Amino acid sequence: MDDQVNERGRLVLVATPLGNLGDISRRALELLTDADLVYCEDTRRSSTLFSANAIAVRGRLRSLHEHNEVALSEEIIGQISLGQVIVLVSDAGTPAISDPGERLVAAVVAAGLEVTTAPGPSAVVAALSISGLSTERFCMEGFLPRKVGERDRLYAQWVVEPRTTVFYESPQRLVTTLREMSEIFPNRRVVVARELTKLHEEVLRGTVVEVAATLAQREVIGEVVVVLEGAPCAPPIDDELVRLALVEQLTRGLSTRDAVSFVESSLGVAHRVVYRLALELRAGQRQ
Ligand code: SAM
Repeated sequence: MDDQVNERGRLVLVATPLGNLGDISRRALELLTDADLVYCEDTRRSSTLFSANAIAVRGRLRSLHEHNEVALSEEIIGQISLGQVIVLVSDAGTPAISDPGERLVAAVVAAGLEVTTAPGPSAVVAALSISGLSTERFCMEGFLPRKVGERDRLYAQWVVEPRTTVFYESPQRLVTTLREMSEIFPNRRVVVARELTKLHEEVLRGTVVEVAATLAQREVIGEVVVVLEGAPCAPPIDDELVRLALVEQLTRGLSTRDAVSFVESSLGVAHRVVYRLALELRAGQRQ
């Protein structure tokens, strides 16, 4: 580390409540009170939390969001090098998890400076922990892509993904997403965790097709996390399995080209193998 660096300086990521203000930790409050500067996404929103806890941040509060995060990194590195304690919070939950912070942390780490945390709420862990699905191995997708093709590629991967998958989804898109998923793995278990820790907290559990049908009946509002069960133990991938997967996709109405592309990414089988089997299937149908 540079000799000039004051060792008191560090970046601290402080987790804040997902909804219930009581979920702030004592250490988080101490850090927010003592920090030289507090960076947050939305100063008005964070001010509600600070006022509720009688924390005076006047003059110490700065805004950091996805559009200025990179530009601010150098400045923050300079502040830490001078011995300042910099706290980063996001609107709710843990900074840098589908929130600003990831690029700042990478820059501070690359500069050889200390990054530490006051851990606490995060919607991904909160939803996973109460899902009742396997928590032993899981993957987090963040927000799903908006483009249909990109979502289809993800679904194709989930056909064989053995780990529990967690993702964030907007309430407006939730029903469409569940409907798309129910066309591919209707009987997989899914949990929709809505408004966690808030007045209207709700946890819906069932198969994908069941939960999709329940939510199609009503307007979905609030914040949502989806937890999807992993794929059952995968059978060995041989020509017969690839043929079955192709027939399933062709029966769904996909063109040969799209069915080949879906099967090759969902099963991880080489394009030439899937293509050859698709041609054989087509030739067989013509006879
Ligand atoms: N950094 C945050 C964290 O650690 O949880 C996540 C931020 S991300 C921009 C916001 C998303 O988190 C929401 O769209 C929703 O999917 C999920 N989320 C946040 N609060 C939630 C809550 N109280 N209940 C359910 N999901 C929530």
